[in-house]
Formats: sequence, structure tokens, C-alpha cells
Amino acid sequence: MKSTQLMDEQPWSRPWWQYSEGNGPALFYIVSIHALALTGLILYPLPGLWVLALALAVASIGGVGTSVCYHRCLSHRSLRLNAVVENLLIFFAIFNAAGGPMSWVANHRHHHAKADTVEDVSSPRYGGFWWAHIRWIYQWSGSEVRRWCPDLDKRRYRVWTRLQIPIIAFSIFGGLFFGWEAFFWLGAIRLVYVLHFQMFVNSLLHMTPGLPEGEDSSRNLWWLGPFQLGAWGENWHRNHHSDANAARFGRRWWQIDIGWYVIRGLKALRLASDIKPTKDILRMEARRATDTRASEITEDSPLLERCGQDA
Ligand SMILES: [Zn+2]
Ligand SMILES: [Zn+2]
Repeated sequence: MKSTQLMDEQPWSRPWWQYSEGNGPALFYIVSIHALALTGLILYPLPGLWVLALALAVASIGGVGTSVCYHRCLSHRSLRLNAVVENLLIFFAIFNAAGGPMSWVANHRHHHAKADTVEDVSSPRYGGFWWAHIRWIYQWSGSEVRRWCPDLDKRRYRVWTRLQIPIIAFSIFGGLFFGWEAFFWLGAIRLVYVLHFQMFVNSLLHMTPGLPEGEDSSRNLWWLGPFQLGAWGENWHRNHHSDANAARFGRRWWQIDIGWYVIRGLKALRLASDIKPTKDILRMEARRATDTRASEITEDSPLLERCGQDA
């Protein structure tokens, strides 16, 4: 097998710095924000309270954008969002550097369809931790929109692909309006933070130790949740893989799922609809419906009478 062919089929066999076609800017972005964040941490190791609060707030809204809009709404169609809310959440997801909605959804649906196989976008089993964590972002050639999300191939989503670079530039440099400390903390430091805590979903949450090949590698990791801020709930990744159409990722009352609470709030405000329940709820409803039907067929019902006569 030629080495270029092997690289295409197993892109993790490339050296880490070798980006795939068209992904040079992604690698440049990752290296730049890390260099900027490091500089910021040396110059301003302790941010002022309001800068920190603002950085956490922006990161949290972006986390909700990724978890509720990109993940549950657009990728899995687990709910429908009001168009204004949807667009606002897309803006904040891009502001957190999650990428445009079309590429995110294509990669994500591909990940679910091929999870734990050699064709998985971000499998740590085949590519190792760093591949799953960050290398796939600039070394994966990108899952095809036409194949994985033709439903999103519309002007209202395509426009975000074009807006991506100006939004990211604003995201990195916007803090400058408030001075250098805000520049580093609202920009690069926030972006490095959210990048890693979102990427743990692909790396850590697919690394179950001692698992035989071919088994579902997804797992729940409770301690990751609080660090994910607005995307808290994504840490229940095994729950999600086992019931990917459900809008709710938590299964127990103690499994905190910020995205789910946001969805409940939006539903109360009539800004979210068509919310898909978990399999457990569906099973319970089916059982209840069967019980109701059974109780309706009383002994003197015509159906039973007929059955009795037939016997
Ligand atoms: Zn998913
Ligand atoms: Zn997964």
C-alpha cells in the first residue's frame, strides 16, 4: 500500500504537524491561541473578578450553543428551536470556536454512525489520545456535508461558514476594547479552555480501560461536567450513545444536565418544541397505553364476549 493512501485511510499515521488539505488555518489557529494563552497567563496570571466572570459567562453560553443547538437540535433532531434562538446559539457556538454548524453536524453524525470502528472520525482506540483529542480537528479531511447532513445544506446554515472567520477574529481580539488583561482572558485563555474541555468528549469519554475490541467505548464521567460549564451534561456520553435521539443526556436526578434544563426553560417560553423523550419514557408510555387498553376491555366488553364464544 502506498504511504499516501495509508495516510488517507489512517490519517493518524501522519506526523502530528501535517494538516490535511485546507486545514492549515485550523492548525494555525490552535497553535496561535495556545501561544497567546500562555503569554496571557504569564503576564496576567490572576484576572480581575469581572473579567473572569465575563469569560465564564461567554464560555457557558457557547457551551449551551454547542450542546443544545449543534448537538441535540441540529445533529440528532431531538428538538426544534425557535429560529432566533437557534441563530443566537449558533453565533455563540462559533464564538467559542466550535466551527460552523454544517461541518460540526457532518463530523458528529459520522462519529455516531462509525463509532469504535476504524472509520470513526475521532477514535482514540485507533488514533490514540491526541488524535481523538485534537489532531483530528486539523488532520481529518472533514466528513462530507452532502453525505452526512444534506438537510443542513441550506443558505441559512451556509452563511455561518462564511461568517466564521470574522466571528473568530472578534472572539480573539474583542477583549482589547477593555484592555490587555481582558484581551487575553476573554480571548485566547477562554478559547483554549473551552477547546480542551469540549474535546475531552471525543478523547476521554471514549477511553474505557480494558475494553475488548468492538464494544461501545463511550462512558459517563461525572467530574468532567462542572468544567464543561454550559456544556455540562455532555459528560454523560454513554447515556447519549445508548439513546442518541433523546434530548435529555442525564438519566438520574443527580446527573446534572444544563442543556436539558435550558431546553425545559425554552419549552416553557414556547421557544423549543418536538422534544424527543428517552427510551425509558417511551417504554413507560407504551406500557401505560397497553394497561389502559387492557382495562378498557372489561369482562362484559363485546370483544371478550366474542372471544369467549369463539372458544
Ligand atoms: Zn451525539
Ligand atoms: Zn461519542
